[in-house]
Amino acid sequence: MSIESRYAALFEPVRLGPVTAPNRFYQVPHCTGMGHALPQTLAQMRGVKAEGGWGVVCTEYCSIHPSSDDHPYPFASNWDDGDLRNLAAMADAVHAHGALAGIELWHGGSYVANLATRAPPIGVRSMPGRTDPIQSQRMDRADIRRYREWHRAAALRARAAGFDIVYVYPTHGYLLWEFLSRSLNDRSDEYGGSLENRARLARELLEETREAIGDRCAVATRFAINGHGEQHLSEPEAHEVLAMLGELPDLWDLVLAEYDEEMGSSRFVREGALEDRVRAARKLTPRPIVSVGRFTSPDTMLRQIKERVLDLIGAARPSIADPFLPQKIREGRLEDIRECIGCNICYAYNFRGSVLRCTQNPTMGEEWRRGWHPERVPPGAGSVLIVGAGPAGLEAAHILGKRGFTVALAEAADEPGGRVTRESRLPGLAEWARVRDYRVGQIKRLANVTLYLRNRLTAAEVREFSADYALIATGARWRRDGLGRSHPAPLVQLSGNVLTPDDIMDGARPQGAVLVFDDDHYYMAPCIALLLARGGASVCYVTSESKAGEWSQYTAEQPRTQRALIEAGVEIIVSHTVEGYDGASVTLACTYTGRTHARAAASLVLVSSREPEESLYRELTGPEGGVDDSRVIRIGDCRNPAIIAAAVYSGHEAARELGNVAPPAALRRERVLRG
Ligand code: ADP
Ligand code: SF4
Repeated sequence: MSIESRYAALFEPVRLGPVTAPNRFYQVPHCTGMGHALPQTLAQMRGVKAEGGWGVVCTEYCSIHPSSDDHPYPFASNWDDGDLRNLAAMADAVHAHGALAGIELWHGGSYVANLATRAPPIGVRSMPGRTDPIQSQRMDRADIRRYREWHRAAALRARAAGFDIVYVYPTHGYLLWEFLSRSLNDRSDEYGGSLENRARLARELLEETREAIGDRCAVATRFAINGHGEQHLSEPEAHEVLAMLGELPDLWDLVLAEYDEEMGSSRFVREGALEDRVRAARKLTPRPIVSVGRFTSPDTMLRQIKERVLDLIGAARPSIADPFLPQKIREGRLEDIRECIGCNICYAYNFRGSVLRCTQNPTMGEEWRRGWHPERVPPGAGSVLIVGAGPAGLEAAHILGKRGFTVALAEAADEPGGRVTRESRLPGLAEWARVRDYRVGQIKRLANVTLYLRNRLTAAEVREFSADYALIATGARWRRDGLGRSHPAPLVQLSGNVLTPDDIMDGARPQGAVLVFDDDHYYMAPCIALLLARGGASVCYVTSESKAGEWSQYTAEQPRTQRALIEAGVEIIVSHTVEGYDGASVTLACTYTGRTHARAAASLVLVSSREPEESLYRELTGPEGGVDDSRVIRIGDCRNPAIIAAAVYSGHEAARELGNVAPPAALRRERVLRG
């Protein structure tokens, strides 16, 4: 059996009420950081996914009314006819490739603060929302009536804009979910009390949406199969709701109440983690089911379809990492799949209020702005020497090779991957090695790219090589002197066994009392603390922030990070800095009062900041870049140490620009001309 036919079941059409999905690849609604603010950016990005073979491509959460405004997070909007043009642009871009377009109608209820519109949030009762010191207005019966009208009007506009699938969204803590919650819903009318009453509004919306647009559009609903905790909606109750509403939608999009599990990072959650719960829910409805699970393995997808766990393979992240995943499976090009690594950087940047980006796919979000396509690169010619085969060097070699350059990639170590190879050996980070594996796999099949391992190049050797261009991708090293966010200058009093993350990744395993100081605030220090604690050390984790791995709140990993440390027996001290170490005792200072106290430790691991490894670049270009040589370019962490996604992006950008005669085009910006 050929690979293509082996996966034929994934390419069967699926009927969803009045419409038919051309295959089983379904891009579920996912945030983009684009929303209503960047309609062209958004339409182009979604269109590329349809081009890559996704049979259904959905919007992100799309507000139906100004009383549901999640500013500063860039949600989509469907408030009035003025939104039609933007919405239609996305639907058209998706239709252009034969896919169906879905729209996730959404009302945030008490969760949102309406910072932009200043409308009072509305809720099943008056209560505080997510962040701001604002409570919602309790909805009276007239409000409920109005809300139903808004939803119906939004559904009609969605149909007018060309959408094929329209969502009713009673989950993830938003308005409809508030009604389902036993604790929050204290109403005494037909919308409160029994489960049937609490589900009434969801039922009404499903019926009214079908009545309004069901002639031409499928009605989908996104629902958390595990309820939302005993206080709100238990798992058995969620099943009851599912059974109650069973046949009303044309499609059930099954999720979990908790984002950090539903879209769990690979540090904590495996591929296909929802399977057992979806199996249990499947019996409750005859309608087609889509669900997610960070699916990147075609075999897992096929099994879930064959065993009728799912009817459609739902994906957000795998479609971000590889918009052409379906096409690659169809063509039997499995080795070309750029597998998601589950790092949740995509989610993080939406959460930071900016356009999403992806560690594996540097073109994500750049389809319209820079005209980057995930599979096509412009041709070029010339010779390039790349020094360093970390994520930046590997990506540059891969793209330059595809462009047609003759590429020599020199790496000092005896294996490629740089920081990715090293970091993927830390607890939970094994999947990150896919950043290396995808690129090494691609390079191997390019006859014009040669990888030289165990080759530490000097400046003289780079010159002698006399390639047309030299890309310096030599990375960065963790500092041993404590300089970082808390300390603008190196710490003066440091002696004894002071280690860095590089030492730990090189195999150092301090025993006894170890203090790990986190002034970096992401995954590195917590991973090291875990590694050492599991290896038998008595670990104290100290952070200058107020939570362990504070920044990982954006990747939906912070609570699990802190829980993992607690469960591994790591002592956690927050809001303190390290001020000095004499080999036996660390001086800690409170970040608020400056008061110090001593803490015994046999070893100190400093996770503060990184120093670019730029000596080679400096030797080639002169101190402070005295020699203006545009043929020597530094990329990745040796230019500015950052996350892996930034190193890949940097390598990609340099490779796309190299040899272009015209100066790089100015970044396109979306400009609002009129309302
Ligand atoms: P980035 O994230 O920017 O790709 P990394 O730190 O992951 O950076 O990778 C840099 C790589 O460069 C490492 O694998 C390192 O061994 C290699 N390297 C550093 N200096 C040299 C050199 N002079 N010659 C060859 N390889 C080098
Ligand atoms: Fe996957 Fe990370 Fe890309 Fe998100 S950023 S799609 S989690 S590889």
